[in-house]
Amino acid sequence: MENRAHKHSLISRGVGILSVACASFILMSAAVEAKGPLNVSAQEVKQISLTEERIQSVLNDAYAKFKDNQDGKNADYIKALAVVDSKIFGITLVTADGKVYEVGDTKEAVSIQSISKVFTAAKVIQEKGDKFLQEKIGVNATGLAFNSIIAIEQHGGSASNPFVNAGAIQSTSWVEAKDSKERWAKIKTYMDDFAGRKLPFNEEVYQSEVNDNKRNQAISKLLDANGRMGSDPLEATTVYTKQCSVNISSHDLGMMGATFANDGINPLTKKKVIDEEYVPHILAVMATAGLYDNAGDWLYLTGTPAKSGVGGGILAIVPGKMGIGVVSPPLDKYGNSVRGQQAAAYIIDKLGLNPFAQ
Ligand code: GLN
Repeated sequence: MENRAHKHSLISRGVGILSVACASFILMSAAVEAKGPLNVSAQEVKQISLTEERIQSVLNDAYAKFKDNQDGKNADYIKALAVVDSKIFGITLVTADGKVYEVGDTKEAVSIQSISKVFTAAKVIQEKGDKFLQEKIGVNATGLAFNSIIAIEQHGGSASNPFVNAGAIQSTSWVEAKDSKERWAKIKTYMDDFAGRKLPFNEEVYQSEVNDNKRNQAISKLLDANGRMGSDPLEATTVYTKQCSVNISSHDLGMMGATFANDGINPLTKKKVIDEEYVPHILAVMATAGLYDNAGDWLYLTGTPAKSGVGGGILAIVPGKMGIGVVSPPLDKYGNSVRGQQAAAYIIDKLGLNPFAQ
């Protein structure tokens, strides 16, 4: 068992919060971390012209280069995720004006899992404003695993940001609705608006997780005990579990990212989904905490806001320019897609997209 998760497991059991979910939380072997030098120098970045041919050929190269990498392992603490075809590998880049470039299994869907947290946080900021998100939920990295309970205790009884489980369950609870049915419907519609289509729901993943989400229930109860929840904690956990069970392909992720890159307007449907003024705040939290306790390494390497999910999806956004979606289920020890990180980092490097190198 990976050390950090193991230590985490022992402490959690020690405080008597839970045991079964924790003991089964064995995260991924064969860590492949997003580290390494940039291959394209800052001077070269300024020379790159983003022609259609160049974009497509860099995507093709990324696919060919990482296709056969078998490092990492599907998440298995949610049983339905363990049996997803680990060979799925799709890469899609969508520009802010809606041009689509893609390669591989770009229509194959996996459950969105933690990437859904971005859209629920976007809903909360849209409804309640940026101060609310910052003050009620938080915008700082925890430096700990995404399902950490210690992180809550260490930060005054609240989640530190909306992209760890605690913060996402908190966000869900604050979406304005008369009951949990309406809350779920609003979140789902909002995700659909970002994608520009009705996203399918993965009933199998939902059933698998909803019957095995005692740790998230414990997190929601702890937050509630600290007066942090906007609605019933267990109901919010169920809605959160539903939002994690929505299916997305790399194509969907690319489109959802392009909506952010296009100042909050879906480039396909032209629908305004989020106010332009809130986009930088959501991207900033993605940069800080999108890849959990490996977010610093990711930012150091690519300079881009990104968000991963244990279903194997990853979404990187080049502000004002494009969304890059990759789907590949095997994960590293942090819970981030191995090939997803590799492909996205490669594309960002080769196309000179690092925002800090402009
Ligand atoms: N639904 C998953 C959970 O609550 C999401 C985790 C993730 O993608 N990091 O554990």
